[in-house]
Amino acid sequence: MFVMAEPAGKKKSGVKKSTVYKIEGSSISRLKKMCPRCGAGNFLAEHANRFHCGRCKYTIFKKQEPAAQPAAAPQAEAPPKTP
Ligand SMILES: [Zn+2]
Repeated sequence: MFVMAEPAGKKKSGVKKSTVYKIEGSSISRLKKMCPRCGAGNFLAEHANRFHCGRCKYTIFKKQEPAAQPAAAPQAEAPPKTP
């Protein structure tokens, strides 16, 4: 029976600050949406069709509504087999 090994270091959850902030010269801009309930510093997680705050469960649905959803699974092209 296999026992899953515990990871040595506890994984840090959350987002990297460097990925949500963009520093342009002396100004800083936020690339992601903020949670209007939790305030600054709480970013919304971006999903396919919505933004979601993991803290207060606030959700903003994206305005664009896909008329027809393409097949989720992309057809994987198998490389040609060479003998
Ligand atoms: Zn929130």
